[in-house]
Amino acid sequence: MTNRERIDRLEIEKQLPKEDWVQLLSTFTTEDREYAAEKARKISTGIFGKTIYFRGIIEFTNICKNDCYYCGIRRSNDAVSRYRLTLEDILECCQEGYENGYRTFVLQGGEDGWFTDERMEEIVRAIKERYPDCVVTLSIGERSRESYQRLYDAGARRYLLRHETASPVHYAKLHPAVQTLANRMRCLNDLREIGYQVGCGCMVGSPYQTAEDLAEDMLFMGKFRPHMIGIGPFIPHSQTPFRDFEAGSVETTLMMLSLCRIMIPEVLLPATTALGTVRGDGRQEGVLAGCNVIMPNLSPLSVRKKYMLYDNKVGTADSAADGMARLAAQMEAIGYQVVSGRGDSPRMQG
Ligand code: SAM
Repeated sequence: MTNRERIDRLEIEKQLPKEDWVQLLSTFTTEDREYAAEKARKISTGIFGKTIYFRGIIEFTNICKNDCYYCGIRRSNDAVSRYRLTLEDILECCQEGYENGYRTFVLQGGEDGWFTDERMEEIVRAIKERYPDCVVTLSIGERSRESYQRLYDAGARRYLLRHETASPVHYAKLHPAVQTLANRMRCLNDLREIGYQVGCGCMVGSPYQTAEDLAEDMLFMGKFRPHMIGIGPFIPHSQTPFRDFEAGSVETTLMMLSLCRIMIPEVLLPATTALGTVRGDGRQEGVLAGCNVIMPNLSPLSVRKKYMLYDNKVGTADSAADGMARLAAQMEAIGYQVVSGRGDSPRMQG
């Protein structure tokens, strides 16, 4: 079977046998990638039109109890200046975002024990009270099912938790032994059962990753059918154990994004900050490969440089209004329009 035939088969069957994933992901050519991108783009515009949803990320704490080998804010990085935003800081970010058309706020942070269920509930409730027409998305890592339930009851409706890699052997090469893929998967299943719109995803080109691992990622995502998928290239951070590894390939990232769009047509698919970091026009390329979401940074400028997950992260100097204007211009340049609104998953309107 040729790679084009594999892509056609994926479009019809919405999944491929593992062997075909491995072949496709290890042998695709530029032409194959463009073929997949064109298909993905058509599917995306068929569902969402030439519009791009945007979500504001508020990086509210860079304190983390975890020690992921790839991540710049890992516990063992003593060179990081640590911070926590107050509720007032967070509400100010939301206000600035709201004035600029944002209707989804993504609270992202390290796994910081100071943010107990009570404190997180207070934050979620305060945002929902002040901005009832907005969605609160959480991206705060692994917690108990009870905790996820409490935060849902407080008003959070979406949760981003990348699975990072669906291969347990590969997972163990990226994380200390106390962090397990089994618990990550437990979290994803709990979140979905509670009723969240759930996002999973992985890094492309992370150290020790093989085409088999990427095949496992596609198999898992095809089965789990998340509402959102976050995929970006691994980028080394100079103060982590993975400092000497190379960044992941933009081409493979774009191919994975297109294949996700073809496999799960209605998925909400961001062109990630990491993609925009490894290549200046990476986010535009992401959209042309089938992405339909962009997630600009709404964190206060004073803390942006302290939330460095990887080296040279883009968007650390733009105000909310500048970031929006630049983004709108970038999208217009390729014939797309950013639209305000909640941008819920087509599977979960209302
Ligand atoms: N602590 C939460 C969690 O684990 O889901 C949210 C914050 S975590 C920093 C957000 C994402 O950043 C991770 O899921 C990971 O995929 C990504 N990330 C961390 N370090 C990275 C790196 N060096 N290159 C690319 N992405 C990275």
